[in-house]
Order: sequence, then structure tokens, then C-alpha cells
Amino acid sequence: MSLNAVHILLTYRCTDACRHCFVFSGPHQMATFTQGRLHTVLDQLRRMPEVRWVYFEGGEPFLFHPMLVEAVSHATKLGLATAVVTNGYWITSERDVGLFLRPLVAAGLKRLQLSVDDVHKYRRLEHMRDQLLAQCSNHRLTLQFLGVDLPEPNAEPLEAREGRYVTSGEIMFRGRAALTLTPDQALWDWESFDECPHELLHAPMRVHIDPHGYVHICQGIVIGNVDGEPIDAVMEGYDPDAHPVVGPLLRGGPAALVQEYELDHEEGYADACHLCYMARSQLLERFPEQLGPPAVYGLREPKRRRRQDQPKPKPAPKANDEPATPG
Ligand code: SF4
Repeated sequence: MSLNAVHILLTYRCTDACRHCFVFSGPHQMATFTQGRLHTVLDQLRRMPEVRWVYFEGGEPFLFHPMLVEAVSHATKLGLATAVVTNGYWITSERDVGLFLRPLVAAGLKRLQLSVDDVHKYRRLEHMRDQLLAQCSNHRLTLQFLGVDLPEPNAEPLEAREGRYVTSGEIMFRGRAALTLTPDQALWDWESFDECPHELLHAPMRVHIDPHGYVHICQGIVIGNVDGEPIDAVMEGYDPDAHPVVGPLLRGGPAALVQEYELDHEEGYADACHLCYMARSQLLERFPEQLGPPAVYGLREPKRRRRQDQPKPKPAPKANDEPATPG
């Protein structure tokens, strides 16, 4: 077992709906971890000593700051190193930065990863960067910048421009990016995408767990649910070759997914993830347990169905409603 990091998608909610978001996050998304589920998942990780790091991300995890602080504290008590990935919407002044960071540092946070690139809205981070670096340094908190290069002609690569990015590189066309950023891209023969170039699908070093409890091996590809069995059992039971989506991907990449299920396809795609995501979107109804949740594919979450024996709830009276007077 090579798993050494678990990424908790604390919420699908976000301040923004970035064009390249893998999981279709945005202000309209509601799904968020409960405190109880968070504690349960973190406690389960105690049975997996190979897992050293827990990342809290989303969506935008700072939107649920009290829960984030509590989760970092709980993970730290369990001996896990913690990191938070954020778009930095909360970095508005030196004072506010302290207000948000101090409780997290006191809870044991080790690493702060900040998405700063041309896709993210919060460009004012540029002005706060030195103050932020100083505060993180004072708190002995490692600050790292993440970025993706926009697929636009003549765009200067981030690394050349900034020199401080720990992760930068070409965008991957999955999630919202597969729909919004591909129309102007150069396309390559679909059959050329005969392997997954990014994820270690056979022996993953990381997985994502979302607010519904789904365990994702790549965003939108589900290998279990921590509501049904603990994460260590999910990983123990993971049989990549037998998984109806991972199996074909291992045998021949996204092209094999199309071939094995005889899916509709265009002649060209922007990258392997683009073909993979569009192919998977056609398989949602066939494999609802292995592909989801619907929101990650840009679909609405199904409404919770009322049980037949439950009466329809009456609307709460408005504050200024007069009680009915007998006539
Ligand atoms: S090819 Fe598919 S499984 Fe591999 S990284 Fe891209 S979207 Fe994920």
C-alpha cells in the first residue's frame, strides 16, 4: 500500500466558479462535511500509519473556518501533518490574515497552499504577498503557491514569471475545464490517449474523500464510500483491474474506456483528461456507484426523496403572520 496522503474535500462550496475547477465547485454548491463525519474519517486514518498527511481543500475550506480549525486540531492530536489549500479570498488585510491564521497555527497547521494564477480571481494577493510571507514565517507555517498555466496563446509560463511556485504546469482538462476551456484548443487523435498520464491508478499515493463520503481515485472516479466501510477497508478492497472504469483506463487509457463501452466520441481531444472526462460522463447512469457525485459532472444533485409515509412538511409561519382568529 503506497497511500501516504488523504485529501479531504471539506466542501464543494466556493466563493468562485473557476473555469478550470476539476470538481465544478462554486457558490451554488452546498455539499459540506459535517463535524461528525470529519471526526469519523480522521479517526479511521489512525489505522493507516502509512498516511502521514491530511490536506483540507474543496471548494474553499476557509468558508467553514471553525470546522476547519477543529479538524486540523483533531488531525494533529492523531499525529497527522496537516495542510490547507485555499484561493485566499480571506487575505484582505494584515489584520484579517492574522485573524484567520492564528487559530489554525495554534491547532497545529503545518502547510498553507495558495492558488495564485491567472485563473483565480483574487489577484490582490499580489499586493499582500510579502505580508503573508512574513506572517507565515513568524508562525513557522510553510507557505506554498500553486498555479496552472492558462491555455492561451503567448501566455508566459508561471514558473518563469514568479519563480516561487511549488506546483505549476499545464492545465488538465477535467471537470469544468473540459467544458469551458477546450473549444479553442489544439486537438489530438482520440486513439492516441492510451494511458492515464497523471494518476497512479494501480497503487495510489493519495485519494480524495468528499462531503458525501465518496473516496475518489481521480476526481469523479469513486472506489468506495466511508459511510459503508472505513477508509482502510476501502483501500484494502480496492481492485483496480476489476473496477469498471479504472480497469479500462489501466488497460489502455481513456481510449480503452471509449472502445470497451463503445461510447460516442469526437475525432480529437485536448488531452487525455478531456477524453476521459467526456467518456465518463456517458457512463454516469451505468455506473452510479463508481462515477459521481453528479455535481462533479456539472449536474444537479438529485433532490432527497420524501418517504411515502412521511407527511409533507408545512411551511414555517412568517414572523409577522397573525395567528388565525376563530370567526
Ligand atoms: S486520464 Fe482520467 S483518470 Fe487519468 S488523470 Fe486524467 S481524468 Fe484522471
